[in-house]
Amino acid sequence: MSSSESTPLKAGEPAGFDDVHWHAIEIDKARSELSVAGPLSAQKVAERLNEYGHNRLPEARRRGPLARLGNQLKNFLIYVLITAAVITALLGHWVDTTVIMAVVVVQTLVGFIQEGKAEQALSAIRHMLAPKAVVVREGGQQKIDAADLVPGDTVVLEPGDRVPADLRLERCHNLKIEEAVLTGESEPVNKTTDVQPADAVLGDQLNMAFSGTMVATGTGRGVVVRTGESTEIGRISGLLQDTTTLKTPLLEQIDRFARYLSMVIIVAGIAIFGGGLALSGLPVRDLFMAVVGLTVAAIPEGLPAILTITLAIGVRRMATRHAVVRRMPVIETLGAVSVICSDKTGTLTRNEMMVTAAVVAGKRLDIEGEGYEPEGDIRHGNDVVSDNPLLDELARAAALCNDAHLERHEGTIRVAGDPMEGALKVFAQKAGFDPETDGRQWPRADEVPFDAEYRFMATLNHDHHRHGVVYVKGAPERILEMCASMVTDNGETASLGREEWSSAVSELASEGLRVLALARRPAEASQNTLAVEDVEDGLELLGLVGLLDPPRQEAIRAIQDCHDAGIRVKMITGDHAMTASAIGARLGLKNTSRVITGRELDRLDENELKQVASEVDIFARTSPEHKLRLVEALQALHGVVAMTGDGVNDAPALKRADVGIAMGVKGSEAAREAASVVLLDDNFASIAAAVREGRTVYTNLKKGIAFMLPINGGESVSLITALLLGLALPISALQILWVNMVSSVILAMTLAFEPTEPDVMKRPPRPRDESLLAGFVVWRVAFVSLLFLIGIFAAWYWAMYRFDDESVARTLAVNTLVAMEVFYLFAVRYLDSASITLKGVLGTPIVLMAVGAVILLQLLFTYLPLFHQTFASAPLTPGALAFAASAGVIVLVVLELETWLRRRWDKGAGGALSSGSG
Ligand code: ADP
Ligand code: MG
Repeated sequence: MSSSESTPLKAGEPAGFDDVHWHAIEIDKARSELSVAGPLSAQKVAERLNEYGHNRLPEARRRGPLARLGNQLKNFLIYVLITAAVITALLGHWVDTTVIMAVVVVQTLVGFIQEGKAEQALSAIRHMLAPKAVVVREGGQQKIDAADLVPGDTVVLEPGDRVPADLRLERCHNLKIEEAVLTGESEPVNKTTDVQPADAVLGDQLNMAFSGTMVATGTGRGVVVRTGESTEIGRISGLLQDTTTLKTPLLEQIDRFARYLSMVIIVAGIAIFGGGLALSGLPVRDLFMAVVGLTVAAIPEGLPAILTITLAIGVRRMATRHAVVRRMPVIETLGAVSVICSDKTGTLTRNEMMVTAAVVAGKRLDIEGEGYEPEGDIRHGNDVVSDNPLLDELARAAALCNDAHLERHEGTIRVAGDPMEGALKVFAQKAGFDPETDGRQWPRADEVPFDAEYRFMATLNHDHHRHGVVYVKGAPERILEMCASMVTDNGETASLGREEWSSAVSELASEGLRVLALARRPAEASQNTLAVEDVEDGLELLGLVGLLDPPRQEAIRAIQDCHDAGIRVKMITGDHAMTASAIGARLGLKNTSRVITGRELDRLDENELKQVASEVDIFARTSPEHKLRLVEALQALHGVVAMTGDGVNDAPALKRADVGIAMGVKGSEAAREAASVVLLDDNFASIAAAVREGRTVYTNLKKGIAFMLPINGGESVSLITALLLGLALPISALQILWVNMVSSVILAMTLAFEPTEPDVMKRPPRPRDESLLAGFVVWRVAFVSLLFLIGIFAAWYWAMYRFDDESVARTLAVNTLVAMEVFYLFAVRYLDSASITLKGVLGTPIVLMAVGAVILLQLLFTYLPLFHQTFASAPLTPGALAFAASAGVIVLVVLELETWLRRRWDKGAGGALSSGSG
């Protein structure tokens, strides 16, 4: 197939260009095959999207509603119920059969809907994490959804990017790509732009970058030749694997617990049935229904569903706070975080930079202006500086050794690229350098891209008279090492006073400015490539610039919140120690007097490192591998560590941290994939918000468990007591089904929506290994089960005494149990503080609605003839209703007392107010 500029793309071949050997033709030929000359216009993109479809792989099919419904039936309790329904039907007890079958239907539907909700929450998140690509289009360079790429687009690759489509490379700088997903070869492949033999296999197509592979190092640019299913990866797998599910260690623990408990209960039930047949005189039907009742009473069937929905709601809440959870187990860990290690630039600071100072030939210049507007004077003391050749040269270096673009967008100026480089462009314009005209006179021949490892960047430019010059910018210590001389005011070369320059750097840095040094070296007209070795020595220093990057106000507040919550915040930056210290002080970090640099870290042994990691809050001039060492040291000190990162080299530290947090905006795909949380706004405040939500989810899980288990406990202990003592059952099996499937579920559901407790960020983090099914929760479950047991029997005996009617007594026992549940719900909502506050009683609207609904249902249960026939309930006198209500009040009062005592005891024992230590 061959098409030229004039042949329109044929509609019948949407896969497009499949049989072109892209690696075997020149890039120009490739472009003409694709009928593109330069950047695509919006219209062209729209046409092509229409023709070739979106650049995505079809997703693995979600489970359909039927499969999900089927899944609900794979539940232990459902089997028990269906068996019971069959047996009651065989016995001819049709009412029992109907009620049990109704319960099966309700239980299945509730589970089905809950699971659907959870899936919805997850798919919304999947959407937020859609891969991005940097593309060059008519409007300039921009970041777009990778799904919107079309054949003919030009894509820019940086370290850590996932290649978004199959590309024919047209520019490579030291580009290495890891192609294991396609070829199985884990060693990164060196890429080139040279034409390759037509019969080269995938692994040898060195001028191609394939969709789904990962840029290991270097930068590159290529033109999209295949998208979506036509890409190599699309042809192999055809499907996007999606493994996000709501599974966390806690859920699994609860699932196991519930299954184990069910087994025990079934066995016990069978034993009781057998023993009862032989020993007690009860009729078979009564005995059988008692055992069914016991089974239903004891199995916490609703619990996993409640916990799942609590997690799903937590995930959704975090997403609205700009923190997207990629790995579900992290929701549990987030609440336990005790140390947050954060990047500085862009996370703690705004990353809206401005050059405010410069030093040339020993003279300090101040640069005025606002934001990225290119207006503002450059002053030396009170004099406006103009016509200074050295300043002009500094400006040219700042503008040329630079990859950012300034774009005017509806009146405001936006930076495409690194904001720091944008600020340098603005500075250059203030000094009189016009990027349009002047920039064009010095086209770039080659470059050494910035790397956090060596902290500088260099470009090789030639003017039209073939004069060559290398410009270098980077961290001042580094650049000073590489310089042999400096340039003076009148353009001459002079010897370099290292001392003076170092103190000039310190002066700028101690003002909190990020300092960059700029230098140059002449180049031969024939030199067309640039390597790191070319700039390692013999440079001429042009001067320094100081960039202001103000702290984010919300980060200052968030750091304060973290400190209140017992979380230590540490700043890890590639910046200069003094800059870091000045910014750290403004941010309100704890220990800003001591700053440790990466080089100092390298000299520490294990133990010294642990010491330093716990004491010091600011780490400067670090490289990514220092992050990994710090995470390990902090974990060895039993910290639960959250670590942020953006670069490809941050991935190991992100994986190792308990909570790896990647930057969604400026982070690389590699960092996002290694992380368990992605920040949509790169903002430290979102981390604090996520921790807060994490703590909320954890307490809500705890509340769900503390609420559900005592109900099962109280009911089953009551039934067992009755059976063992040969007493009449205070609540019948069908009534227990009613309570568990209707009232309890409605009440427990509200706990998933509980708002954050006001003091949740005033407590210290919970210990790393605190188990939910231990300590306080176990005590609460046992204690409340006992209260419920007492309440149920009290109601039964009181009603028997007053009315001498088993139906009335059972109805009262049911209503008393439900009333105790309602009041217990309020006690559970504030586990650690007083519940009888106006806020506690009024609750949130959803709680009041649930309580209203439950009261209504109980009234139906008590007074509607249909319910009388079904559940053998009977109407109650107002006095009896008052009995039920008072039982609820008593439960609440007793628990308030218990909370109060526990808090006193905790304080007395020197413990914190944390509930885990009960
Ligand atoms: P941070 O941790 O604050 O994000 P970086 O690792 O991005 O720091 O940068 C560390 C240092 O590298 C900066 O202080 C600066 O001296 C230098 N630097 C950063 N970006 C560039 C760039 N684009 N060109 C040259 N030098 C840079
Ligand atoms: Mg950075």
